[in-house]
Amino acid sequence: MYAVVKTRYQPGLDICTVDYPKIGEKDVLVKVRVASICGTDVHIWKWSNWAKDRIKKIPLIVGHEFAGEVIETGSSVEKVATGDFVSVESHIVDGTCYQCRMGRMHVCRNLKIFGVDIDGGFTEYVAVPELNAWINDESLPLEFGSIQEPLGNAVHAIFPYDGHEDVSGKKVAVLGCGPIGLMSIAVLKEMDVDKIIASEIAPNRRTLAKEIGADIVVNPIEEDLVDIIDSETDGNGVDLVLEMSGATSAIKQALEIVTPGGRVSLLGLPGEEVSIDLNRHVIFKSARLFGITGRRMFDTWKQVRRLLSIPRFRSNIRKIITHKIPIRDIDKAMELIAKKEAVKVLLEPKW
Ligand code: NAD
Ligand code: ZN
Repeated sequence: MYAVVKTRYQPGLDICTVDYPKIGEKDVLVKVRVASICGTDVHIWKWSNWAKDRIKKIPLIVGHEFAGEVIETGSSVEKVATGDFVSVESHIVDGTCYQCRMGRMHVCRNLKIFGVDIDGGFTEYVAVPELNAWINDESLPLEFGSIQEPLGNAVHAIFPYDGHEDVSGKKVAVLGCGPIGLMSIAVLKEMDVDKIIASEIAPNRRTLAKEIGADIVVNPIEEDLVDIIDSETDGNGVDLVLEMSGATSAIKQALEIVTPGGRVSLLGLPGEEVSIDLNRHVIFKSARLFGITGRRMFDTWKQVRRLLSIPRFRSNIRKIITHKIPIRDIDKAMELIAKKEAVKVLLEPKW
């Protein structure tokens, strides 16, 4: 079968023929029908410092956002059946460590990620643990198959723990309008929030933020985000900040613009250590900082399912999917994202 493989310790990806995967007794075999590109894949393609440090297994089939049809099940598989249309949770957990037993599978101590630690989904068939196969409604359009994974990141950042904190009527800032920031705006739009203030450098992404429903869209290079938030909130600051850029300057702004007692969800990954004034920005502000990784397994997936039943939400997510590209043109797809011409790129299984 064909696969997109990292074969060398330098930039680039290759399309290779590889062996069919063997499924274990608790696995299902998924025929990939749709996949999508995440920033992580771009790092692996570019062979950034992060990738050099993180990727231990080469050759590696890349890709962790994928969905498809179950065509075979292992002997101990109970719930997932042949013919099911499944989306894949990319975090593989052991289910038995302290974190898993405490109900925090997304921070399993023995976490492995498809396309990073083990072979991933930019191929034709993948062996997936039954636990990681999320059964979709048959009627769900294929285009929403693989993007539920990053959509889950957005939902998790808004609702990071059990006993969901209500966001209705709140003022929310979204810093960074890449795919996940834009998806967050689409989610917030369905949550009856009072005001969404978005910040983004790239003009095409600012336009999308506005179209999806941000009330105010700021260019943080030319405008003073802190001043704007001040005047939009009677000097109070926002109730919730979703930091989705990973830019050091935006992380600092997040702590500046959150109202005392408010919450900051940190999802963007900075490329360096970030120093913060704990006294001023966290302690005396009684600010709540949440580190966001992955999705809660599996309540986040359930929230995503409900959201995807809403027509307006679907149409907003469609705006974020700017390109559908045959997987054989993987280089072209990567370049479009690297240049920020594309936002979310779906890969069609055309080899
Ligand atoms: P992305 O990296 O394209 O999005 C970041 C956006 O922030 C870009 O559009 C960029 O133009 C914008 N930006 C850069 N500097 C900015 C600034 N100072 N102010 C405002 N906007 C700025 O793609 P993404 O997939 O949406 O990912 C967002 C971030 O989340 C990335 O840092 C990514 O590595 C990280 N991420 C984290 C997790 C997790 O589980 N924590 C999962 C996936 C991605
Ligand atoms: Zn575990």
